[in-house]
Amino acid sequence: MALIFDIKRFAINDGPGIRTTLFMKGCPLRCVWCHNPEGFSEKPVKLYTKKKCIGCQSCVEVCPEKNLVLTPDGIKDLGKCTACGKCTDECPTLALEMAGKEWTMEALMQVVEKERQVMEESGGGVTMCGGEPLMHVDYLCEVLDELGRRKIHRTVDTTLFASAENVKRVAERCELFLVDLKMMDGERHKRYTKVPNEQILRNIRLVSEMGHPFWIRIPLIVGVNTDEENLTASAEFLASLPTKPEVVNLLVYHDVGKGKHARLGTTYNPEGIEMEAPSEEVQQRALGIMQEHGLEAKIGG
Ligand code: SF4
Ligand code: SF4
Repeated sequence: MALIFDIKRFAINDGPGIRTTLFMKGCPLRCVWCHNPEGFSEKPVKLYTKKKCIGCQSCVEVCPEKNLVLTPDGIKDLGKCTACGKCTDECPTLALEMAGKEWTMEALMQVVEKERQVMEESGGGVTMCGGEPLMHVDYLCEVLDELGRRKIHRTVDTTLFASAENVKRVAERCELFLVDLKMMDGERHKRYTKVPNEQILRNIRLVSEMGHPFWIRIPLIVGVNTDEENLTASAEFLASLPTKPEVVNLLVYHDVGKGKHARLGTTYNPEGIEMEAPSEEVQQRALGIMQEHGLEAKIGG
């Protein structure tokens, strides 16, 4: 069974309407700018927020591995953690939290059903996100099938870094894909995400050939992918598809991943790649390039 590391209610940027977004753990990509690095690993991970810590040492005392110590800089992890979760259960202030837990289908659907009215009235539904949800395709299909039985609109937010067979299985079980298109050049893609992009591009074409509805999401990151060459190549690729994306969402970069890495005790952007948020001018130029190629596009979404 895959783990869920977050559930976002009243999400308005994860597909049509107001949605409940379920974040599945595990991702084969390592995007430098990732907003959810706690989703990288398939296993549970511990997050520590120093400003919430009152130094009570309940976590230190309860840890069976003697893995935690209180220092002037807060709680330190000695690298022997087995992710048992005892410290997070004991922490009175939620300074320590565990990201990733198993949910029974029944418990998951109880959470989803609470939002049924708002989802239905807004034309929303449930979005499966990650991590990379197709990494645990059997579990993903089980959840999608259950949502389908309940007549809830299903969106899958994915990189499409998966086999064609798995993409088809998921396509049969969702109404909409949200697909990331980070950059067209394979070498650059590998540098910034640690995986090649040929399979991703093939799968975008596959989804399009199937006539399955999809939106494309392009993060706009100055220093990484906002150059004219990449944006034009992206637009040309999308315009060449037999079925166009319903919309291209241009997502403005911000470094929220930084705080998450600090809480995980890992390093944000360890290679020091220069990344900046796009100016208004860069955003409008990107929008213009998409529109010049006949694509429906907007900033954000
Ligand atoms: S999760 Fe378990 S092993 Fe890891 S630090 Fe907490 S109590 Fe110790
Ligand atoms: S239990 Fe929580 S508040 Fe207490 S020392 Fe540990 S992390 Fe800090």
